[in-house]
Amino acid sequence: MKLEPIVFEGVDSARPMVIAGPCSAETEEQVLDTAHRLAALGVRIFRAGVWKPRTKPGGFEGGGEPCLGWLQNVRRRTGMYTAVEVANRRHVRAALDAGIDILWIGARTSANPFAVQEIADALRGSDVTVLVKNPVNPDLELWIGALERINNAGIRRLGAIHRGFSEYDKSLYRNAPQWHIPIELHRRIPDLPIFCDPSHMGGRRELIAPLSQEAMDLGFDGLIVEAHCNPDCAWSDKNQQITPESLSLILDRLVIRDTTQTTESLAELRREIDKIDNELLSLLSKRMRISREIGQYKKEHGMPVLQTQRYDEILKKRGAQAAELGLDPDFVTAFLRVLHEESVHVQMKLING
Ligand code: PEP
Ligand code: MN
Repeated sequence: MKLEPIVFEGVDSARPMVIAGPCSAETEEQVLDTAHRLAALGVRIFRAGVWKPRTKPGGFEGGGEPCLGWLQNVRRRTGMYTAVEVANRRHVRAALDAGIDILWIGARTSANPFAVQEIADALRGSDVTVLVKNPVNPDLELWIGALERINNAGIRRLGAIHRGFSEYDKSLYRNAPQWHIPIELHRRIPDLPIFCDPSHMGGRRELIAPLSQEAMDLGFDGLIVEAHCNPDCAWSDKNQQITPESLSLILDRLVIRDTTQTTESLAELRREIDKIDNELLSLLSKRMRISREIGQYKKEHGMPVLQTQRYDEILKKRGAQAAELGLDPDFVTAFLRVLHEESVHVQMKLING
């Protein structure tokens, strides 16, 4: 991918880049009140949705194009940069005409290659900054595909927003973080800035601080957070919106770790990990060899591969051992299960010739 860094004049590049503002632009007063309070606290980039993708009809779907004028007023009165969600070519044109600085593609849209391609085509020739949220489903290739479509249209200041993935079962989070997915995205496209959206991930005010810290600990480049002048009365996503003042407290308390520093001091520890991994692998290979010998014995004596009692015994004994060693028994059980599965697989192959 051809990328250029996302820089905005007056936005500190040493700190994570913070984009904040309400879920939806509701009224001009709400937009300006929120923006003035955020600006006073040092936030330099304002977000607000004017086209809202609702799961069910009947929710507040945003005031549309006329609200872009409110965002222009935010820029005029506070000097803040502005960001808005776009989901089709009409949105893109209107947002570009209004001089919006950042366009983002929402999670429901990035899951749809037709919609993303339509947006990409509408973006061609513009040099606006674009952020692509992860698709609602945990599909890294679909996310990368969406980023590629936008990049192929000539957009160089491109970033990703990790907002978590929806699950059928209720959990602590509104959208499960599945951190390994953005981590893999970073491994695949190291120059792509990644923002975390703790608001849509947590779905609850009290999860914004811990999720933001987690994102910082994982080296994310920025945060996009929902902030509202009066969260309890918000027309959408009210449980996850916080006041500008609460956001400021959260940001002040974030611990930003020095990446260069930690990489150096970690070198020695990483060498030790490498050594242990080598030992683990050679032990695993030894264990498999013995497992094959057992398979051979079972074959010669007409015994079945699966010996449930023995497996049970292993799980129980090792579980207790694990606890004594300060390991999480659930982790050890899961590990042994995979190991046992592989052993059974190897013996099956051997017995069936
Ligand atoms: C939003 O940012 O308000 C939004 C609709 O988010 P998402 O696309 O992540 O659900
Ligand atoms: Mn929202």
